Amino acid sequence: MPHLPVLEKTTGPRGEIDRHRRLAGKTVLITGAARGIGEAIARKCATEGAQVALCDMDRHSVQQTADALRSQGNLAGAFTADVSDSGSVKTMVEAVKAYFGRIDALVNNAGIVQDAQLKNMRDDQWERVIAVNLSGVYHCTRSVVDIMLAQGSGSIISLSSVVGIYGNFGQTNYAAAKAGVIGMTKTWAKELGRKGIRANAICPGFIATPILASMPDSVLAEIVRRVPAGRLGQPEEIANVAAFLASDEAGYVNGAVIEVSGGATL
Ligand code: NAP
Repeated sequence: MPHLPVLEKTTGPRGEIDRHRRLAGKTVLITGAARGIGEAIARKCATEGAQVALCDMDRHSVQQTADALRSQGNLAGAFTADVSDSGSVKTMVEAVKAYFGRIDALVNNAGIVQDAQLKNMRDDQWERVIAVNLSGVYHCTRSVVDIMLAQGSGSIISLSSVVGIYGNFGQTNYAAAKAGVIGMTKTWAKELGRKGIRANAICPGFIATPILASMPDSVLAEIVRRVPAGRLGQPEEIANVAAFLASDEAGYVNGAVIEVSGGATL
């Protein structure tokens, strides 16, 4: 059964559009927005004046995050979908369009890890990570592209990873998906650039979010030791780049793959 999205009524103040904020008047849809990097992106975009559509799998947690944003005077709506399910994504995107009237930026952020060395990887681990991290990005972008084409503008921002460029021990499935995201991003930049739609990828290094919970402390300590910045990144440091890419300030940034890793890959 597909997970049907649930549209919650937005009650926050709409107010006058503040033209001084760089995302004023724009609607930004963020997947995996209940927590972590997605939540930080939603918060940053809202602070920059956007109407934000938060999408996640768990209705309760995404509603809580959207409520917190609304309580601070932002315009935010909560939507549910499993990005690996094309029907669920299509219904969610239709609901966002019906509610906010347009979609100016899509942030493909939802992602999971299911790590194992190649010799131990099970088919279900391979298939689920590809379904969420690669097919999920395809389903969301495919569902949004007609809306952006009709508008004649749009920004597609996808969360890849430094692992998609350089690989990582124990992450065959994750590395394959994140490399695929880069390939799709460059393809969309070429196909859609003349239609006013930009596509870019962000490659975070190691960012302090719940996704790192499965990593042993000793591995994390070793990662930090190797990062020239001497620390893990913060979700807000990814959100800053996403908000820039969503804005018109990034009007000539298309097909870019931007590492935000504190220099971890040098
Ligand atoms: P996170 O804290 O685990 O948050 C991911 C969010 O995505 C969760 O709210 C999760 O919901 C949601 N989600 C998972 N599967 C979904 C699905 N099928 N449909 C809709 N939502 C789904 O992860 P994060 O660290 O913020 O990572 C965000 C993105 O950045 C991911 O694409 C990740 O691969 C990428 N990234 C992260 C790092 C890092 O170090 N943190 C580094 C490089 C790249 P549930 O809680 O219900 O599962």
